[in-house]
Parts: sequence; C-alpha cells; structure tokens
Amino acid sequence: MATVCSVCGSSEVIYHRRYSGEIFCRRCFLKNIIERVRATISRYELLKPFDKIAVAVSGGKDSLSLLKILYEIERDFPRASLTAITIDEGIPEYRDEAVENAVKYAENLGVPHYVFSFKDFFGFTLTEVVENGIADAISLQPCTICGVLRRRALTLAAKKVGATVIATAHTLDDIVQTYFLNILRGDTRFTPIGIRREVEGVIPRIAPFRLIPEYEIVLYAFLSNIPFQTYTCPYVERSMRNMVRAFLTEYEEKFPGSLYAALSSFEKVYTKSIEEDRRCRKCGEPTGREVCRACELVEKILERLKN
Ligand SMILES: [Zn+2]
Ligand SMILES: [Zn+2]
Repeated sequence: MATVCSVCGSSEVIYHRRYSGEIFCRRCFLKNIIERVRATISRYELLKPFDKIAVAVSGGKDSLSLLKILYEIERDFPRASLTAITIDEGIPEYRDEAVENAVKYAENLGVPHYVFSFKDFFGFTLTEVVENGIADAISLQPCTICGVLRRRALTLAAKKVGATVIATAHTLDDIVQTYFLNILRGDTRFTPIGIRREVEGVIPRIAPFRLIPEYEIVLYAFLSNIPFQTYTCPYVERSMRNMVRAFLTEYEEKFPGSLYAALSSFEKVYTKSIEEDRRCRKCGEPTGREVCRACELVEKILERLKN
C-alpha cells in the first residue's frame, strides 16, 4: 500500500479512506471534504443562488462543521446568505455548553445567530417532560419526543428569520439509521431525507452531509479545531437509534462502503413510494395523518402538564 497522499504525494498522511482506497494528508483531506459537500449540493441541487439559508446549529461538532463548510462554499455566492439557528430544548449543562459553543463559533465567522427554545415555542422544556414522567406516561422515549419537537421548532425558527431553506448536519450515518428505524417501526411511507423538495408553503430541508460518513466529519472537526462537547445528552442511552447506530458502525467497519450501499438501496425503493400531500388540520404542515405528530405531541404534553 502506498503511504503518500493520493492528491499531493506528501508523506504526512492522516487518513486512509477505505471505501475508495484514497489516502490523504491533512490539507488535502480538509479540501476534499469541502469539495465533496460542494459536489453533493450540485448533484442534488440543494441550494439556489438567492437562498437565505438557515443552518441548524445544535452546537455539536457536526453542525459547527456544517456552518464552517457552508460559510466557505457560500463565499462564492454573494447573493445567498447564511443564518445560524440553535434550538434549546432545555437540557441543563448539555445544551448550555452546546449553545455557548454555537454562539462563539457563529460570532467568529461573522454569521448572524439566533437561539430559540422549546419553552418559547411550546411552553415547556424537554427536561420538564421527562422529569414529570410524561415521556413514560405516553410511552415515548425522550429522544423521540425531542426529535419531533426539534424538527417543528426548527421550522418555526426558520420562518421567523425568513429563511428559504433549512440546512441540517445529518450525515450519511444519520440518514441510513433513520431509514432503518423507519423500517423497524413498520413505516414505509417516508421520502428521501435531506433532498430539496419544493412543496407550497413549506421551507425545504437539505442535508449537505448526506454523502459524508460520520467519522469523516469527526475527523474534519478535529483537524479544524472545532470544539467537541464534553457533556453527552443524559437521555441518549435510552434511544433505539443507539442500537441501530452500534450495529451499522460495526458493520461499516468490517465492510467499508456498506452505508453507501444501504443509502442507495433505500432510496431506489422509497423514491417510488407515493407521497401523500395531506396537511395537518392544526398547523398546515404536510403529514400523512389528520393531525401531525408534532401537534399531537404538544397537545398531549400540555394536557398532562396541567394535571
Ligand atoms: Zn495531500
Ligand atoms: Zn400539525
């Protein structure tokens, strides 16, 4: 095996990309990741020249990397603009640290940044929901509740800042995990994640990292001095996603390229599934049901918090 960078020939190599056989030095790896994001954006036509992009910045390494990379790419598109949005779901320490990282990082790049909270939008924090036993009472894991409500909060926040598109830091791993979770839940009515779809009155969501494996984003963040969180989410142990993640990570390690194979298989099947263009009776967002999951959850939680 050659031990020099496949791009520049430097002998100071830091990464061997097993699924492609490429070897990189630090500089060429960082450049390559940006190029791959740029290629993903153009392959799926994720962005338009006049977009006002709301970047969902949780404050974790993935989202800070996304902000940095979009900042680099968008410098070539002066008519587009970037805004960072952070949703504070109200998990002490864990989110406080992340919000602080997000604020500092956005400020350094000179990107406008806004923090919105579950409390503002829904009237309660995630911690209140868990500590009052509501998650158990409605038989949902904290991560499931958090996921549905963060998604809703992000939509509300993006509307407030007048965004035309929402960019999230979901990686190849995140997306494949979600596809598996959908299957395990018996849900076959989903559409591809992170690809721009224009539906009237709905702000499209894009995932510029959809073709980048998580470990490459981790490496990118590490080499770019992006801060890593010291607190982990206190609820993460309880998540089903963790089980799926563990399985997929081990599988990818043994058989490099499996995540790409899974993504492409799922998307061949699912792009064929018929999209339902029903709207939630309460909020007007697209949903396959009468009342969307977010509206239903908020209502259930508020009802129980009253009692
Ligand atoms: Zn190189
Ligand atoms: Zn709704």
